[in-house]
Amino acid sequence: DKYVYRFEEGKAQGDASLFELLGGKGAGLAEMARLGMPVPPGMTLTTEACRSYLDQGFFPEGMEIQVRKGIAWLELKTGRGFGLPENPLLVSVRSGGASSMPGMMDTVLNLGISEEVVEGLARQTGDRRFAYDCLRRFVQMYASVVMDVDDALLEEVLVGHRQARGFEHDSELSWEDLRDISESMRLKVVEQTGRDIPRGPYGQLWGAVEAVFRSWNAPRAKFYRSQHAMTGGWGTAVNIMTMVFGNLGEDSASGVAFSRNPSTGEAQPYGEFMVGTQGEDVVGGRRQPGPLSLAEEEEGGPESMQRLMPGPYEALCECMERLEVNYRDVQDVEFCVERGKFWMLQTRAAKRTGQAAVRIALEMCEEGLIDEKEAILRVDPKLHIERALHRQIAGTPGEALAYGQAASPGAACGEVALSSEQAARRSSEGADVILVRPMTSADDVEGLHAAVGVLTQQGGLTSHAAVVARGIGTPCVCGVQALRIDEEARGFYLAGEFFEEGETITIDGGSGQVFGEALKLKEPQITGNLETFLNLADRYRRLEVRVNADSAAEAEGARKLGAEGVGLCRTEHLILESAEAVRAMRQVLLTNDWDVREKGLEELVTYQRHELAQIMRAMDGLPVMVRLLDPPAHEFLPRTRAGRKSVAEVLGLSEEAVKWRVEALEETNPMLGFRGGRLAMVYPQLYEAQVQAIVEASRQVEDEGVRTGVEIAIPMIADPGEAQHLSAVVHDAVARHLYGMTRDTDVKVGVMVEVPRAAMLAGELALEADFFSFGTNDLTQLMWGMSRDDASRFIDAYREQGVLTEDPFEIIDRGGVGQLMRKAIRQGRLVHPQLTIGVCGEHAGEPTSIRFFEALNLDYLSVSMFRIAGARLAAAQAFI
Ligand code: ADP
Ligand code: MG
Repeated sequence: DKYVYRFEEGKAQGDASLFELLGGKGAGLAEMARLGMPVPPGMTLTTEACRSYLDQGFFPEGMEIQVRKGIAWLELKTGRGFGLPENPLLVSVRSGGASSMPGMMDTVLNLGISEEVVEGLARQTGDRRFAYDCLRRFVQMYASVVMDVDDALLEEVLVGHRQARGFEHDSELSWEDLRDISESMRLKVVEQTGRDIPRGPYGQLWGAVEAVFRSWNAPRAKFYRSQHAMTGGWGTAVNIMTMVFGNLGEDSASGVAFSRNPSTGEAQPYGEFMVGTQGEDVVGGRRQPGPLSLAEEEEGGPESMQRLMPGPYEALCECMERLEVNYRDVQDVEFCVERGKFWMLQTRAAKRTGQAAVRIALEMCEEGLIDEKEAILRVDPKLHIERALHRQIAGTPGEALAYGQAASPGAACGEVALSSEQAARRSSEGADVILVRPMTSADDVEGLHAAVGVLTQQGGLTSHAAVVARGIGTPCVCGVQALRIDEEARGFYLAGEFFEEGETITIDGGSGQVFGEALKLKEPQITGNLETFLNLADRYRRLEVRVNADSAAEAEGARKLGAEGVGLCRTEHLILESAEAVRAMRQVLLTNDWDVREKGLEELVTYQRHELAQIMRAMDGLPVMVRLLDPPAHEFLPRTRAGRKSVAEVLGLSEEAVKWRVEALEETNPMLGFRGGRLAMVYPQLYEAQVQAIVEASRQVEDEGVRTGVEIAIPMIADPGEAQHLSAVVHDAVARHLYGMTRDTDVKVGVMVEVPRAAMLAGELALEADFFSFGTNDLTQLMWGMSRDDASRFIDAYREQGVLTEDPFEIIDRGGVGQLMRKAIRQGRLVHPQLTIGVCGEHAGEPTSIRFFEALNLDYLSVSMFRIAGARLAAAQAFI
């Protein structure tokens, strides 16, 4: 079997299409080599080799010999020898799976160096300090990545030595210092592990390859994959490539760049570079990196690459341009300049903010690089639209306390957490948390996910914090120079003011501003590029998108976001929002006195009529579906003594009597109890009163000139006879309240399909209904026999053990629930070809489920307000 693929400038054995086999990094290197770009020669060990190793615990047969042949080939290409003291060949060993997990897995640089060959490297380059710098870097990386020594211990050795010598920067260390530091680190490793760092180059190489293979299963890599729902493309490839040195003096540098700005999407290269450093230093945020172009230079800041290295700068821009055309997408690259010679080290599709994703898709479409459909498919409904509809600071705030880089847009307000543990803890307790760190690393992933905003002192747009925050759509301001964290005092200084952990601050990741107080935030709006883009997507969409709205405010907001009607208005939410209405409801449920009950019902009618009229006005010209009462009766009842007391007063009963009646309504299993249509089987007056409110509201607003399309849904139907009975109750009430109307008000009456039995008997049900609305939350619960509210305790165990790949409460279960839906739709439409069919519930806003609903030929989706824009896009993508 072939486990090794070689690449060199001008040719390669692999290419971009082999990313499953070679990993993203390997495939990118092969593609760049093919395109004739300056890539140091190297080879990629396949993901297949990794899988085999993880399965068996040892390298697959034939792999080692292929690697040895590859190394011999590298020796030939470079004229150096692996482990050869006179003229050593050094390589990097880099991980890279099929989809990128930035900073999640391991890399070892300068491999092949040892105390024996370091002097050879010094002679080869004429720079002894450089050679010992490589040795020090290698020892530190190998120890932490391969031998699992805590990097903090090694860092201590370095810092301790530096301080003992009275230096501030590593750059002041002499070659003798670096030699001594390397030796101290080595002794630390021996002390910690009882083992020495291998000196032989192959000993080093196999150790590093194994470590990279194993890093696939490291907890943080697993966590990353679960967070990003990465299931395919198992295992990581290993890239072994000739080292090129950015730390070889003033005419050498390392850097990272994007072919367009990943934050705004502007069609200008954006990047950072640092003279005299090796790879990791740039993103590590130890020093402030310089910008790429002259135009980006700041007063008093570091000089640009264009100024310091015009030749390599041109080469970089040309490579990025060609890569964009080749991949037809924005690229994120790593590069190196060794003594004036430019090298490309990596390319991959750039992670970007939602704002950037939309702008880039539109502009690439205009440039003719991609067509409209492709542009629509390029933007992710969840990541780029749903999460990019960021909140903004409302009004005009005062002067900001401090400024940093605008690393990931959106405003966030929350309490300060100085560690990831604290952030995770406070957020699990329900707090909005802003994570404040000097800088972040892969160890902070959990905290970054838990936080609503991120603030760092060091690093730029390519720093770890910025990259991760953009990836998950969390607002982030980084590189705030005015920030000084004081770990001991559990707080920080910001522009002279002291803040304790737990105090509230506000950040704006779109402008880089930091405020030392809580500011009011406002909900997102669709304007500019996003509006243009969504309008484009709408042209390719068939499914209608409606909103689940329980208030006029929601309905109004939803309409601005593009909702095409209300697909679900939960009347119980209307009632639960008002203390008055709840009291009236209690009156109805608890009294025996007809007059008292009548009065309660009347109050309910008045209240609901008012609220529904508001919603209808907001939806002028669009349909509004109102669902009659659904929740278990006890949700309305008083739970506390004080509550019972006030009900008792109103009803003129003793507290004791109220308590009995409440207890009489308690249920063993409320979710399967006295709810939905069953309530109306016992208390038809409840539904009659609701219908009265609905019809009167529509008459009222129609008199004002509003056009209504009212749909009334009966919930929790299980039986066609039940549907017939209750829809007769509803129809009678409609007729009664429409009596005497001159205009023809159109009121449709339909059923919720959420009990499996109703779906099974959909043909008969359709005889009684003008429409079906699938309540997929309940349908899933009832088909799986699993309560959605309790499933989180065990559903993960199913996923971890590979029994389930998806959570059925998140993505519609196509095989089970979906199959029943398909059958119900077919039978329903057979009986009633004009039947309108929609779906509400969480699934309606989830892209994979939407693709399935498109295939089922449903009429509309009804989603919560914040998912409307994403659903518009996902529905277009499903149709394309
Ligand atoms: P990550 O996935 O964390 O970026 P990489 O494998 O890309 O890890 O490597 C870490 C750093 O080392 C990067 O900055 C990269 O550009 C640099 N690097 C990797 N290989 C080489 C090489 N052969 N020569 C010089 N620098 C390298
Ligand atoms: Mg990299």
